[in-house]
Amino acid sequence: MEYNKKVVTLVYGCQMSERDAETLTEITRHFGYSPSEDLETADLVIVNTCCVRESAENKILGKIGELKKLKERNSRVKIAISGCMVQQPGALERLQKRAPHVDIWAGTHNLHDFSALLRKVEQGEKVAEVWQEPKGTLEVASFAEKGKLHANVNIMYGCDNFCSYCIVPYVRGRERSRKPKEIIEEIKSLVDSGCREVTLLGQNVNSYGKEFTPALDFADLLHQVDQIASLLRIRFITSHPKDLSDKLIKAVAEGEKLCEHFHLPIQSGSNFILERMNRKYTREYYLKRVQQIRELIPNASITTDIIVGFPGEAEEDFEQTLTMMKQAHYSQAFTFMYSKRSGTLAAKMEDQIPLDVKKRRLQKLMSVQNSESLEWRQHMIGQVVEVLVEGPSKTNPQRLTGRTRGNELVVFKGDLASIGSLVHVKINEAGTWTLVGEVESNRGIQSFM
Ligand code: SF4
Repeated sequence: MEYNKKVVTLVYGCQMSERDAETLTEITRHFGYSPSEDLETADLVIVNTCCVRESAENKILGKIGELKKLKERNSRVKIAISGCMVQQPGALERLQKRAPHVDIWAGTHNLHDFSALLRKVEQGEKVAEVWQEPKGTLEVASFAEKGKLHANVNIMYGCDNFCSYCIVPYVRGRERSRKPKEIIEEIKSLVDSGCREVTLLGQNVNSYGKEFTPALDFADLLHQVDQIASLLRIRFITSHPKDLSDKLIKAVAEGEKLCEHFHLPIQSGSNFILERMNRKYTREYYLKRVQQIRELIPNASITTDIIVGFPGEAEEDFEQTLTMMKQAHYSQAFTFMYSKRSGTLAAKMEDQIPLDVKKRRLQKLMSVQNSESLEWRQHMIGQVVEVLVEGPSKTNPQRLTGRTRGNELVVFKGDLASIGSLVHVKINEAGTWTLVGEVESNRGIQSFM
């Protein structure tokens, strides 16, 4: 295959969206495209979209508008818009009217059929296809650039939870789990091409396999992935707190390659708000899950997502979120201001919170979490931690970076030859986001490349 065409892929949103964008890029290789970052010389631009927040959608609409100007300068370039934003009920027609310069529109359910759409466009047609329903689980070619250490692997699609603020169940359909055999084969082929760390992806990995007979759950799947030779680390996101089983916590405690990191979105510390969000757990239940993790895995890193300014959130509800941050000791939190998402229940709730109040609460929340994150990292000073070496640091190329099992970023002086290996690093300094350390040379490196 001669790669004489360039594709630029722009991604918005979560790891699911990133993984889908990788799939699309991989599909274009079969048409002679090689990935590029230069829009000006691109033959194809793919924008894989997100619709989780209206602000994200506005940003994407701005980008689609910019691409019109690109097309005026370069009439050869084809534009493809795919993913969640296109999949929203009734969105396609509205988007097509707004952006007639787009050549391909594709939803989330027909991504694996992108080659059929691209073929038509290469013959001069414009195409738009959005399937209303998924057809089975999406089996896609594994994707890992040679030597790329980390890869995302979908283990399931969709979500059954219908949190009142979230559009995902409407754009990604109901939960469907991929068969373990297919997941294991994909990971083995990734490992053969140089991958050493995988993140297993699902909107709610804890309900993986609930439709399987004979029964096989997420902990069982993790056990199988843990056996794969030459794979060094396994991560997973996202864990819905209501489905986090003792069996799963035990599996992480016992697994050799399973990283001791749980991303456990709390969203709010107030039971009143959690109920309005339809999260199906209480603050007390959540804290018991945290306690169970800490009992079995004392060093586990727990991260979270939090929304402030959800409709009806009073000052005392927000205060409960702040106390939650302190009780749960998160190593990191992804914090957001609630933003209306049309088509969801929460968007129709009457008691919306004014923007200035949301902004103030977000600032306060971030400052509380920043000191928690700093404290979490400071307690690591003096510890020797296992780090998977990723490469030179972006801010200081004289140093290397990598991540701990808890997903904390570490910067240290080291040998380029250790990239792709596990090293032991003694932590000497800690900031809110980064740890600084030195390699414990007497422990050596563990190389699998
Ligand atoms: S669990 Fe809730 S927030 Fe997460 S994807 Fe499903 S509906 Fe959305």
